[in-house]
Order: sequence, then structure tokens, then C-alpha cells
Amino acid sequence: MADEVDESLYGDRLPEVRPDLVLSCGDLPFDYLEYLVSRLDVPLLYVPGNHDASVQPPDLTWMPLRHEIPTPGPAGCDNIDGKVVEVGGLRVAGLGGSVRYKRGPNQYTQAQMNRRAVSIGLRLGLKRVRDGRKLDVLVTHAPEFGLVAATDAAHAGFVAFTRLIKQFQPLLHVHGHVHPYGRQLADRQIGVTRVINAIPSRIIEL
Ligand SMILES: [Zn+2]
Repeated sequence: MADEVDESLYGDRLPEVRPDLVLSCGDLPFDYLEYLVSRLDVPLLYVPGNHDASVQPPDLTWMPLRHEIPTPGPAGCDNIDGKVVEVGGLRVAGLGGSVRYKRGPNQYTQAQMNRRAVSIGLRLGLKRVRDGRKLDVLVTHAPEFGLVAATDAAHAGFVAFTRLIKQFQPLLHVHGHVHPYGRQLADRQIGVTRVINAIPSRIIEL
């Protein structure tokens, strides 16, 4: 899911949806994610979008009372921004944020996102060497560069994502950020990777 609250999930549809895993691509209210994770009772992994508050953990260096500082972000959900995690037999990597277009958290220049992607790529490579397993799902807020005309700076997407996808060939890349405004957008394909704009929500079989 991404960007827009799917009202049907507050109603009768939710009990029919039996996912093994929920992925949020960002820019969703934290209480919506908390509602979903508590009702569905399966792991919910998320990356922040450009409209989300900072979910960086506070710098605890000078704070002795560590256990009393709550983790920012939706309760019960796992922030996978800049991380590689294994959930339900899947290897999932996350990169939140959009192309920088104003002040605020969760925005990056192409060079900054490139560094984040290189860092996640290093970890993916090391894990693959160790256990022979590849990346299954890449979760991002913004799309890869080129989906939207580059003149639309806020929605242009990241060059680094295309490279990451070509290098690691996940089964699936899910993102949000580019609003379809009610239209159903066609899924895309980069090599073997299915690329899906998840706004507002999609059920995906892997
Ligand atoms: Zn966005």
C-alpha cells in the first residue's frame, strides 16, 4: 500500500484480505498502519515517504535512559528504510524518501540516494555470498528515474533504483509517490522484475 488510505480496508473487505505480509511504501498516516497491523496480525514493513515525519531514531549518545525513549513511527510496524530484512522466507530491502525538492526529512539528491543504494547493495551482495539467496522484494517510496518526466522534480524518481533492480533482479519492486488519481496504472517490467505502483493498495502474489 502507499500514499492514499484505502477506505475499503476499514470496512467489510479487510477480513477477506489474508496477506502473509503487508508492505507500505510511505506517505500513509501512522494510525492507518497501526490499525492494519493490529487487525491483520501479520508483519508490516514500511519505508517513509516525503510527507512523513522523520522516523530516524533519536541520537541516544548522551541519553542514559534509553529504554524510555519510544521508537518514532507507527507502533508494531517495522521501518526497513536503508535495511535488508528476512520476513516469511523473503529477503526484502527498503529505501524511503523522494527526490529532494524542498526542506524537510525523507528527501534526497540523486547522489545521496545513490550512496544509500550502494550501501544496501553491499549488504545484499554480502548476504548473497553467505547464503546464496537473492533479493526478493525492493520496497521504495519513489519510483525509478524515468517513470515521470524529469521536469517534475518532486516525482522524477531515482537513477539508483534502476541500477539496484538490474543488479539484484528482485521478483518485485513496489513503490508509491506517483498518484494515479483513480486510474489503474499498468505494471511495468525491468528485466525479470515486476514493478508495481501500489497506490492505494494492491494484493500481490509472489
Ligand atoms: Zn511521496
